[in-house]
This record gives sequence, structure tokens and C-alpha cells, in this order.
Amino acid sequence: MATDPRCPDCGVTMERVKLHTGDGLSLNVNTGEKKDGLLGSLGVNESRSVSPRMCPECELLRLYAEK
Ligand SMILES: [Zn+2]
Repeated sequence: MATDPRCPDCGVTMERVKLHTGDGLSLNVNTGEKKDGLLGSLGVNESRSVSPRMCPECELLRLYAEK
């Protein structure tokens, strides 16, 4: 992401935060897209890491899938 996203309610820059499960595992998003090449032909879906942002004003959390 080239620029930090802004909160749709407050218009302030959202801060990068850490988000993980109670087990300490990081979150991933399954995009439903097939992986390129052999793994895709085997039916393996692409999995992308998640970049959480939080608004410092209203504490809105948003999740962005990393490219
Ligand atoms: Zn906000």
C-alpha cells in the first residue's frame, strides 16, 4: 500500500497494528484465487497475509490483504 489509509469516519491516518489469534498465530486471508503454477493446478488457493490498521480516534479496525 503506497499511502496509509484514512478512517472513513474521522479522516485521520489509520495506524498499523498487530493482530493475532489467542494462540499467537498471525492471520491470513484466503482470497479464493488459485495459486500460480503447479500448486494452483492441484487446487491450492492463494493465501495472503493481513495488514490490520486501527483508527487512533474511534478505534475502528480494518483489515487489508497484503499484495
Ligand atoms: Zn475513526
